[in-house]
Amino acid sequence: LRPADARAVARTLGWCYGHDVPIVPRGGGTGLAGGAAPLLGGVVVSLERLRRVLAIEPGLWRLSVEAGVRTADVARLARESGLMFAPDPGAAEQSQIGGNVATNAGGPHAFKYGRTGAFVSGLEVALAPGELAQLGGAGWREAAGYDLTGLLVGSEGTLGIVTAVELRLLPARAGALALVVFTDDLQSAQSALLAILSSDARPAVLEFVDARAFQAAAATFPGEPPRGAASAARHAGPVLLLELDGPEVQRDRERGELEEALGDAEGLSVESVPPAPLWRWRDGMNGVVAGVRGGKVSEDIRVPRERLAEALEAVYAIGAELSLQACAWGHAGDGIVHATFLVDPATGDELERGLRAGERALELALALGGSITGEHGVGWVKRRFLAAQLGPAATAAHERVKRALDPRGLLNPGKNQPAVEDGGERAGSAGTRVPPVAGGGPG
Ligand SMILES: Cc1cc2nc3c(=O)[nH]c(=O)nc-3n(C[C@H](O)[C@H](O)[C@H](O)COP(=O)(O)OP(=O)(O)OC[C@H]3O[C@@H](n4cnc5c(N)ncnc54)[C@H](O)[C@@H]3O)c2cc1C
Repeated sequence: LRPADARAVARTLGWCYGHDVPIVPRGGGTGLAGGAAPLLGGVVVSLERLRRVLAIEPGLWRLSVEAGVRTADVARLARESGLMFAPDPGAAEQSQIGGNVATNAGGPHAFKYGRTGAFVSGLEVALAPGELAQLGGAGWREAAGYDLTGLLVGSEGTLGIVTAVELRLLPARAGALALVVFTDDLQSAQSALLAILSSDARPAVLEFVDARAFQAAAATFPGEPPRGAASAARHAGPVLLLELDGPEVQRDRERGELEEALGDAEGLSVESVPPAPLWRWRDGMNGVVAGVRGGKVSEDIRVPRERLAEALEAVYAIGAELSLQACAWGHAGDGIVHATFLVDPATGDELERGLRAGERALELALALGGSITGEHGVGWVKRRFLAAQLGPAATAAHERVKRALDPRGLLNPGKNQPAVEDGGERAGSAGTRVPPVAGGGPG
C-alpha cells in the first residue's frame, strides 16, 4: 500500500492489527539486511508518498520532513539553509530519512558527527494498534519519561512506523581537506590508525580501504598513489582516507598534529586529495568490488579499533579456507569492516561458500568483542546471531520491549529479533511463526 499521509499509515496499521495481518514498512528499499522485504507475507507499507517538507527553520537549526523524503534531499535542504545534515550513507539518492531513522544509518562523516539518531530531535510515529504519537520535538528529545524517540531509532520497523522526522541540524562547515595515507602492511595501518586516534586532531572522516579493494578501484582513484614497483611492493597495506574540516587555520593545525603523530610510524606516505572526488570514488567501492566476479557477500561487522589488523587477517583466512577472494574496506574510526567475499553466483557452489564465509565473519566479530552489525542493522539476515550478540538478559529485555509495543507481533515480524536455533519452524519472539534461515546476507 502507498498511503498518502501519516493518518493513512496509522489507519493501515489499525486495519492490519484488526485483521491479524503482518505489516512491513518500506522506505527506499536500500537496506542490506532484508528488513523491508515481506518474508512472512502481509502488507508492505511504502512511505514514498510522504514527501512533504513540513518546516525549515534555519535560525533554530531545525528541519521537519515527512518520512519519505530522500536522504540526499534532506542534505540538500540543510545545505541550502546554510546548515549541515552530516549522516551520509552510501545510497542517499534512494534511501529515505524514515529508513535512515529506522536503521540509525551512518556513513563516513558519522565518525565525528554521529549517526542519524544523533540528529533526530523528534518523531511522529504510527504505533500499534493504529494511532499516531508525537515523540520529542521542538528541537529536543523528550526529557520526561523514557527516551521513546531513541528507542524508535534503529528499531528497523519492528516497534512503529515513522511518518515524520524533526532534525536538529548543525551549522555548515567552513571547509574540508582530504588526506590519504598509504601504509606498508596491516601492522603499519594499525599503528597509523591508533596514532591518529590518540592525536589532538579530530578528523571528520577516518576510513580504510584494504590493498585488495584499492587495487580493484585503482584505475579511478582521484589522487596519485605512490608509483613504481618498489613503491607498490612497499605500500601493500590498507589505505587510510581522512578528512579534516573547519576553518583553514584549524585544518592546518590539525594536519600538523596528524603529521606529527604519524611521524614515527614507518613507511607511510601522506597525500592531499580533493575531498569531493575522493568521497565519490569511495562511494563507488561497493559496485566496483562486486563487479570483479559478478557478485559478493559482504557483512558490516564492527570490531574494536585496536584489533582492526587482526580482523583483516582473519577475514583473509576465512576467504582462503573457503577458496574465495576476500577484501575489506570501511569506517576505520568506528571499527566498521565491510568484510567481503567475491563470488560468481553462477559458478558451482560459490554463492553458498560466500554465505558461509559471511556467517564466519559474524562469528569473528563476536569472538573479537565486536558486533554483528556496525550500521546496516540485523534485519532478517543476521537475526540468528542476535541472541549471541546481546547475551541472555539483554535478549529477554529486547523481547519484552517488542511485546510491549507490538503485542501481536505484526510489525515487521521476524526482523531484528533473536531467531530460534533448533533448525525447525517454531514460534518467534512475539508469537509469529519463523522458518529457519539459510545463511548470512548479501551486502
Ligand atoms: C550502495 C549502498 C551503500 C550503503 N551505504 C551505507 C552506509 O554507508 N551506511 C549505512 O548505515 N547504510 C548504508 N547502506 C544501507 C542502507 O542504505 C541504509 O540502511 C538506509 O538507512 C536504508 O534506508 P531505506 O529508506 O532504503 O530503508 P529500507 O531499505 O526501505 O528499510 C530498511 C529498514 O527500515 C525499515 N523502515 C523503512 N522506512 C521506515 C519507516 N518510515 N518507519 C519504520 N521503519 C522503516 C524497514 O522495515 C527495514 O527494516 C547502503 C546501502 C547501499 C545499497
